Amino acid sequence: MALTGLQIQKLLPKTNCKECGSNTCLAFAMKLASKKANLSECPYASEEAKQVLGAASEPPVKTVQFGKEKELKLGDETVLYRHDKTFVNHTLFAINIDDSENTDTINTTLESIKNYELERVGETLTIEMVSVTHKSGDSKKFTEVVKNAWDKTQRPIILQSTDVEALKKASEAIKGSASVIAYANKDNWKELKEIAVENGHILSVTAPNLNELASLTETIKNDGFNDLLINFQTGSLAEQFQTNTIARRMAIKNNYKPLGYASIKYIQSGDLLEETVIALTEISKYGGICVLPAFNPAQLVSLMTLRLNIFTDPQKPIQVDPKAYPVGEPDKKSPVFVTTNFSLTYFLVSGEIENSGISAWLVVPQCEGMSVLTAWAAGKFSGASIASAIKEMNFEDQVETREIVIPGYVSQISGELEENLPGWKVLVGPQEAADLESFIKVKFAS
Ligand code: SF4
Repeated sequence: MALTGLQIQKLLPKTNCKECGSNTCLAFAMKLASKKANLSECPYASEEAKQVLGAASEPPVKTVQFGKEKELKLGDETVLYRHDKTFVNHTLFAINIDDSENTDTINTTLESIKNYELERVGETLTIEMVSVTHKSGDSKKFTEVVKNAWDKTQRPIILQSTDVEALKKASEAIKGSASVIAYANKDNWKELKEIAVENGHILSVTAPNLNELASLTETIKNDGFNDLLINFQTGSLAEQFQTNTIARRMAIKNNYKPLGYASIKYIQSGDLLEETVIALTEISKYGGICVLPAFNPAQLVSLMTLRLNIFTDPQKPIQVDPKAYPVGEPDKKSPVFVTTNFSLTYFLVSGEIENSGISAWLVVPQCEGMSVLTAWAAGKFSGASIASAIKEMNFEDQVETREIVIPGYVSQISGELEENLPGWKVLVGPQEAADLESFIKVKFAS
């Protein structure tokens, strides 16, 4: 039974020291009650409080960690919609290989997984996991492929087999990698649980429907093991969408622990478009791990991009560090541009400068991740603040250029900038980044 804010407050130190980020213990208690804070944020919580509040303050979706250093995380979610607070851990991608494939093909796929990187607004997106499906019928082969996948990629492995002995041997071969054993069901969970405990792995649990799945996770938890992922068996895209939503609503709104686990989806339909739509649904609706049937870079671009969009914290704009960025190979006489440190703005502007073929400096003051007009309206992108940023960066010592291009939307700051930056001439650039290339061709192309 969930505790109320007042019940929780009675267990807190009541010193109102504010170290948890809340103004009072009561405010912190209210956040705990609504799952918007974690008890560990109060450094003075007594052992008694930890014990009593332990279960109550647990996030409704259990945290589970993967990898040798436990570097990958799922769960810990507290809201149904990201704008209510934020989503904490994004969907993880795994690429499947079959152990019956020939060794060269397997090694090529493993290399591709390991080397895959996609740059998006300053972030490097990668594939986090590898899945190995036991199709050969040979447990020795399965173990070899699992071990090879771990050795070559150092990614946690999802071991897919219906052969308990094969799962045991393969699990031992990658002991300590915090990988995933699939598929635990009502008939084999006891044996698989022992294998998971002995080797430090996570269990992927499945059942034909939500009721049976909830009953099974409860049974395994009551038996002392709680590092679980849940796999829904759904027949259609609509059912997948509905089931994912029901399970997450039950966990978050009703604090229903038997469904309070991250999920895993094994995607295998044979149709690339359909598989992509299934994966997109997982990303959009609470999917934990998406196991993709093959390495397909074209598919990954859309999945990675959607994932980045869904899991970006809407309260924290993605931003780049304030500094003077070289675009191309600028020297002391290269043109100088200025824009804000909102990542999308920065990458649009630097991309357009790059497309124009010139080398230049792009000065980016601290604007708290706001776009040009928002930052200007908030007083973060004024003539005085840009001048002061340039001085703090000692940028005037780096270049001989004394012309600076400002975005067209803030042409009104040109006079103020010239006043605060004596010796500099301000040029007003275009309003839209898309027009920068033609602007540059007219102004700077030699
Ligand atoms: S850190 Fe603990 S004691 Fe201090 S205000 Fe927060 S809840 Fe109260």
